[in-house]
Order: sequence, then structure tokens, then C-alpha cells
Amino acid sequence: MNLILFGPPAAGKGTQAKRLVSEKGMVQLSTGDMLRAAISSGSELGKRVEGIMQRGELVSDEIVIALIEERLPEAEKAGGAIFDGFPRTLAQAQALDAMLASRGAKIDLVIRLKVDDQALMERIATRYAETGRPDDNPESFKVRLGAYNEQTAPLLPYYQGQNKLVEVDGMETIEAVAQAIDRAMGASAS
Ligand code: AMP
Repeated sequence: MNLILFGPPAAGKGTQAKRLVSEKGMVQLSTGDMLRAAISSGSELGKRVEGIMQRGELVSDEIVIALIEERLPEAEKAGGAIFDGFPRTLAQAQALDAMLASRGAKIDLVIRLKVDDQALMERIATRYAETGRPDDNPESFKVRLGAYNEQTAPLLPYYQGQNKLVEVDGMETIEAVAQAIDRAMGASAS
């Protein structure tokens, strides 16, 4: 099964993706993690994206689409991918559909984690204090939330039109969110 975890930054996508990896052996494809790894390694790509990410802006479609494409064979072998933080623009969503179609695959389910902005702000302040992740600073986070609302949220009708969208209340506990995701995956598989 190929699943997209959809939602604003700090909605809990990473937490739920990691659980699905350990419980179901799926592969997590997080473009944010891939880009952070590129920065840590000091690669050319890392140097190109560091400032953009620190400001909270989106990196180019071309870069993230290439990162995802590279990892699709691995996900296929594992029997499924969890797309976490990708796609974030309509161009990315269309490219993903085309890349999967060319491999005889598709997105099966899109789970939208709904969390209100106030809760996101509180979560991010805690994460910033705990981890010091540079783009969790209040200024960059505002830019990230703006990018989500302006460039990413418009993808919801795209997936709704494909009848793949399921909404989950991301304000619930991690366990309750996990159960809701499992129910949606079970319903989609049957
Ligand atoms: P994340 O860890 O998913 O919150 O991503 C952290 C940052 O990486 C984002 O604020 C963007 O700068 C960049 N990024 C991650 N995924 C994407 C994507 N699909 N498209 C554009 N930029 C991305």
C-alpha cells in the first residue's frame, strides 16, 4: 500500500510514519529527512537547500521529485511507502502520480491529520526547546505554516477528487490517531 501522510508541519506525520515502519515494515519517504541528511553530509545539494530550509520556504519541485524517484524501488520491494512531507505542491503530486503509474503502482490512500494552528504553535515551541531544529524557530515556522496553507493545502481537492482522502483528528492522542490511521488503511485495503 502507498500512503500519503498529509498535514501541516508538526501535525504528527513523522511520529505516525515511524510507527508504521516498525509495525508494518513499510518504508518512510520523508523529503525533509532526506534534505536534512544532505545538509549534514555537506553535499552540494545540502549547500543549495540549507538557507531555503532554514527560512522555512519550500525547496524546488525538481529537487524533491528526484529524491523521491531515487527511493521508489526500495519502497516497492518493502511492499509500500509512506510519503511524509511529500508532495507539497500540485506539480509534486502530479509527478508522483506519473512516477508511480510508470511503475504500475498508485497512491492508495491520503490521510490528512487535522490540527488547529494554536496547537501547532505550542507543539513547535516545545520541539524547538527540545531539539533546537533551526526551522522550528518562531519566524521560520510562520513561513512554513504559510507555505502549507498557500501551496500544500490546495492539494486536498486533488486527492478528494480521486476519492482517496480520509481525515483524521490529529488533536487526539498518538494512540488514538494511530488507531484511526489503521482503520482507514484497513478500509482502503478491503
Ligand atoms: P519537513 O521535515 O517535512 O517539515 O520539511 C522541512 C523543510 O524541508 C521544509 O520546510 C522545506 O524547506 C523542505 N521540504 C521538505 N519536503 C519538501 C517538499 N516536498 N517540497 C519542498 N520543500 C520541502
